[in-house]
Amino acid sequence: MSIKKILVANRGEIAIRVMRSAKEMGIATVAVYSDADKLLPHASYADEAINIGPAPASESYLVQEKIIEACKTTGADAIHPGYGFLSENAAFADKVEKAGINFIGPSSKAISVMGDKLTSKQTVQKFNVPLVPGMDKPINDVEKAKKVADEIGYPIMIKASAGGGGKGMRIVNDKKDFEEQMERAMSEARNSFGNDEVFVEKYIASPKHIEVQVLGDKHGNIVHLFERECSIQRRHQKVVEEAPSALLTEERRMKIGEAAINVAKSCAYFGAGTVEFIADENLDFYFLEMNTRLQVEHPVTELITGVDLVKEQIKIADNQPLSFRQEDLKVQGHSLEVRVYAEDPANNFLPDTGKLISYVRPQGAGVRVDDGYEEGLDVSIYYDPMIAKLISYGKDRNEAIERMKRAIHEYQIAGVKTTLPFCDFVLRHQEFLDGSFTTKFVETHFTPEVLEEVVDKELSEAALAVAYQEFSRRKVQVARNDTKLGKWKSRVRN
Ligand code: ADP
Repeated sequence: MSIKKILVANRGEIAIRVMRSAKEMGIATVAVYSDADKLLPHASYADEAINIGPAPASESYLVQEKIIEACKTTGADAIHPGYGFLSENAAFADKVEKAGINFIGPSSKAISVMGDKLTSKQTVQKFNVPLVPGMDKPINDVEKAKKVADEIGYPIMIKASAGGGGKGMRIVNDKKDFEEQMERAMSEARNSFGNDEVFVEKYIASPKHIEVQVLGDKHGNIVHLFERECSIQRRHQKVVEEAPSALLTEERRMKIGEAAINVAKSCAYFGAGTVEFIADENLDFYFLEMNTRLQVEHPVTELITGVDLVKEQIKIADNQPLSFRQEDLKVQGHSLEVRVYAEDPANNFLPDTGKLISYVRPQGAGVRVDDGYEEGLDVSIYYDPMIAKLISYGKDRNEAIERMKRAIHEYQIAGVKTTLPFCDFVLRHQEFLDGSFTTKFVETHFTPEVLEEVVDKELSEAALAVAYQEFSRRKVQVARNDTKLGKWKSRVRN
């Protein structure tokens, strides 16, 4: 192993997640932290920690020079970017390599090809990957775009070429609304990305979001590690994920896996990556985009395959060939992840940041918690409000669900509202249980009132539990008295 010291250019749970694998491999770690994160566990977990400036990410975690400088100061010879922040910034990957530091991730070329929605479509098309029917070139001429929309057939979706994070996307159900919606999509794209080019594609009414984990080494070997189902989303962002998908047949699993490998081949990919697809009601799938980094929900894949994805990323960066082939990988058991956000599900999932007055993690068989906070710390307004990822594993889907419900019940967080009650609602819903849910789940089934029902039910369950405890206590008391009496009696007799 040529890598001796890794700087993790990130914060919170993912920084600790990466450092744990590094530690197991005997590699030293360096944390970076902003003024707001001084007390966070990721800073104390690392062998060394460097302050990189004020709380706003634009003045700390996103400042490329500060990260590279921190490597020089500490002698770190590799950077792991985590997810978010600089992880999909091609210019940063390039700068890191030019500074003689190993970037634990793909080539900057692969990042930039896959970072653009249309370039990536054009690239994967040559490798026979199924695409959502639509344009493969950007457009800003409304009349021409309208003609294409007619050919594709309504409903359609207008997307910003440079888009991301669900921005610049518009659904058009009717031809008469096309002009207005296209103007809006273009102005949103101009404001958000400084580029008003958009493209049009078929809108898949109720899709499933299914993604495939891939790993490629620098010697041309690429494998897939099966799929994750991530259709439970709010604001186009995932909250509950699982592996494998409840509905895919073995045959389709292999087909979508092969498509993902082809996407990776199309950009000579190395490192860990995720190929996202949407699947229609027949489970026919279409390429959406590739995320050229470690994904938030990677643990569910780790649990069903037994592969530590971070260790693999580090070994790949170190030039080592993959130590397994496709046929060595098997799906074993089932895993779920729920994202514990400091958000109020009853109030449109608005962030609810503040102090974690009480924080008690669930424990026990089949439960993993990846988090970046401790009791008494503040969930800051400056960053993503995710407190933790709660992950469960079971021999089958049912056991994974039951363990997750039990773990949610054990999790005690006071001081901020969280998405836990919402996740509990999802896990009890028939559509989740039978696996037929789509990205429309939240919009179709969720209202704040359903949480009140859950709370009411829990309260009555809690009341029952208290009553039962009281009942048991009295019974024990009576039994004890009986025993005492019995002993006394017997003593007298003897
Ligand atoms: P972004 O990069 O902004 O996150 P994506 O292209 O990854 O955008 O899409 C985000 C989400 O939007 C998907 O997970 C899916 O729920 C929905 N979506 C995207 N394209 C379509 C489409 N053509 N039809 C239906 N839903 C779509």
